[in-house]
Amino acid sequence: MLLLLLSAGTVARGESGGVGAPPLKAEAAASPAAARSRADDPLPGDGLQRVVWEGEEMAAPLRIVCYHASAEHATAACRQAASRIRELNAVFSDYQEDSEVRRLCETAGRRLAVPVSPDLWELLSLSLEISRQSGGAFDVTLGPLIRLWRRARTLRELPPAWRFEEARRAVGFDKLRLDADGRTVELTAPGMRLDFGAIAKGYAVDAALQVLRENGVPRALVDLGGDIGLGDPPPGREGWIVAVAPPEPDRPPSLFTCLRNCGTATSGDRYRFVIIEGVRYSHILDPKTGLGITTPREVMVIAPTGAAADAWATAISVLGPEAGLPLIDALADTAALILQSEDGKTAVYRSRRWPALAGESRVPAAEATP
Ligand code: AMP
Ligand code: MG
Repeated sequence: MLLLLLSAGTVARGESGGVGAPPLKAEAAASPAAARSRADDPLPGDGLQRVVWEGEEMAAPLRIVCYHASAEHATAACRQAASRIRELNAVFSDYQEDSEVRRLCETAGRRLAVPVSPDLWELLSLSLEISRQSGGAFDVTLGPLIRLWRRARTLRELPPAWRFEEARRAVGFDKLRLDADGRTVELTAPGMRLDFGAIAKGYAVDAALQVLRENGVPRALVDLGGDIGLGDPPPGREGWIVAVAPPEPDRPPSLFTCLRNCGTATSGDRYRFVIIEGVRYSHILDPKTGLGITTPREVMVIAPTGAAADAWATAISVLGPEAGLPLIDALADTAALILQSEDGKTAVYRSRRWPALAGESRVPAAEATP
């Protein structure tokens, strides 16, 4: 849902007073596949040029905004960052038949400990840690159930009970066996499938930011379909201004955060849901029931990395404010905002560190309109 959510709501703006990024959907439509970049006018006095790179990676709109003395150098760095994301897609994609993850899943239930790449090892280890911390609300082994739900969304009917039970037998992060010495992974139950849809884009924006930094472009923002990584701020600014998507898709954002050197992500069911027999099910599943969650809510998380923000935004979508916010409060430098429909109104919940980390501000509607 992040791809569509950002298209409609979350907006990254490079500098205050400047025009917000137009909705990414429109940008992506203008340049669906080929990436393009442009150098804006240099900012007065600092000699840095603002470079915007737009493209599409991991089936999501990619937008990089960065500042550097040489627009040419920054553009080359953006190109490298985009190709790093493409490389990660070849590891984590569930849609690409020959991705490393798909190949690993073919070994499920065969008692094979498979050596994996450093990226897969790192993200799988982090995923397991967040599964444990979230009490299983976030779980990359949900693949078999997610596949059933994708079908259910297309057919608009619940999966038959026997298929559901079969899928559930192949789900559970306790069925993963990681060996740190050999960096091998074993999927112990037949039919297991890993789905990194709730964390890979966040990991990818972290990796892209790292490429930019290594190339001497630390003042950068990487936005991949609503998973946003923020490096050093634009020249002369405290941070990057990132809008909170309003719950109503047609309304412009009115709440803004000011962020630097962190990651942020939004999860929710605004676009990706299915209504079956009058019940609205999200594309985000509650691992406890195996069903799509039915309470409409939007969650924005700020965390030290994009990967953590991405995973926790999904986990908190499952857990809701009461169970979720205490977990967020227990994590260093992490905060969450939840917008939830209650009796026809939008209730807002903020974690303890939200005010300090978000640098939240309200901007007059005219200025806020992208
Ligand atoms: P996000 O948009 O980051 O919240 O990720 C949603 C995607 O993650 C879904 O489309 C599924 O592919 C996958 N997913 C759904 N529910 C979960 C969950 N509870 N834990 C981990 N991944 C999930
Ligand atoms: Mg996520």
